[in-house]
Amino acid sequence: MKPDTKFVHSGGGADPQTGAVNAPIYLSSTFEQTAPNQNRGYVYSRTANPTRTALETALAELESGRRGLAFSSGLGALATLLEDVPGGRRIVAGDDLYGGTWRLFNHHEKQFGLSVTYVDPTSTDAFAGALEAGETQVVYLESPTNPLMKLTDLAAVSTLAHRHGARVVVDNTFASPVFQRPLELGADLILHSTTKYLGGHSDLIGGALISGDAEWGERLAWLQNAVGAVPGPVDCFLVLRGIRTLGVRMRAHDQNGRAVAEFLEQSPKVRAVHYPGLRSHPQATLARRQMSGFGGMVSVDLKTGMAGARRFLKALRIFTLAESLGGVESLAEHPASMTHASVPPQIRAARGISDGLVRLSCGIEDRRDLLTDLARGLRAV
Ligand SMILES: *Cc1c(COP(=O)(O)O)cnc(C)c1O
Repeated sequence: MKPDTKFVHSGGGADPQTGAVNAPIYLSSTFEQTAPNQNRGYVYSRTANPTRTALETALAELESGRRGLAFSSGLGALATLLEDVPGGRRIVAGDDLYGGTWRLFNHHEKQFGLSVTYVDPTSTDAFAGALEAGETQVVYLESPTNPLMKLTDLAAVSTLAHRHGARVVVDNTFASPVFQRPLELGADLILHSTTKYLGGHSDLIGGALISGDAEWGERLAWLQNAVGAVPGPVDCFLVLRGIRTLGVRMRAHDQNGRAVAEFLEQSPKVRAVHYPGLRSHPQATLARRQMSGFGGMVSVDLKTGMAGARRFLKALRIFTLAESLGGVESLAEHPASMTHASVPPQIRAARGISDGLVRLSCGIEDRRDLLTDLARGLRAV
């Protein structure tokens, strides 16, 4: 099946008992056993729930993985993954990460003796250097990164990592399976915040891990049950419902993202626009090689710093000032004081997250309204 067909039909098809075309929402914590320890495949909903099974089947299908696992949040998925990376082990990660990911890595370093080495995500040589420097269990990548939209060459870094016996995890939240296929590029595991594009309607919090190899998938499924950061059946249903329209939504986000990036780049009030689909993006060639579209995330660095960014955000009427991303509605936020406030200021500055940086999540509204709104913001700057 082609991707759009897969998105509509993934998850196991019609309910065998009733013919319902959508997976029913099984609001049950426990399941009747026919005799002690004899059951119909379900025992207790932390371990497995039929609505969650439908979602997990769909997650594996849409990323071409062997095993899909659903979690109560993206960070719940990451926390569960970190249970498999004990103290004393080492992670090599790109240095421009989701703030909450950075915070949890930092906690594991302080609390449990995990070692995390951060490198420039754009430099394959930097990953090579870090991998040579010491034994590494996991290479953890975000591409494009949040919020600076930097890219990592996923195929090249995966080859390197495997040569050093490390596994590669890719947070594919920004690109979605529509525009980037990390397992097909050589990665071993994908993480999603399904809160974002997979859910797509800003009405739930959820996460996912999708494993390319069945054995690691089995170990993570064991941890999913042992840790217990699982989503309820209603949230599973909502993510599945979001996945149905993923293809059409992502194309609309992509068209609006491109239009917004090109529009902002022409303004004299703008220092830089970060969007992998722009010709001016420093990794435009890599972007075209490993992505088939660029989505709706655009970061813009305003010349007027914090004060200008605040005036810009205050003037917007269609872009809502809010954290998060990936919903049908357009959102705007200020990384330095919002999503990345937990990153110390000197580290933010060193990584290029300036006080004038505004991150936009372009929704699926009419492009003309979005451009009018941004023109209003720029006038206020
Ligand atoms: C939001 C986000 C997360 C965390 O997911 P939650 O669902 O908020 O826990 C991780 N990675 C990226 C890239 C995100 O945008």
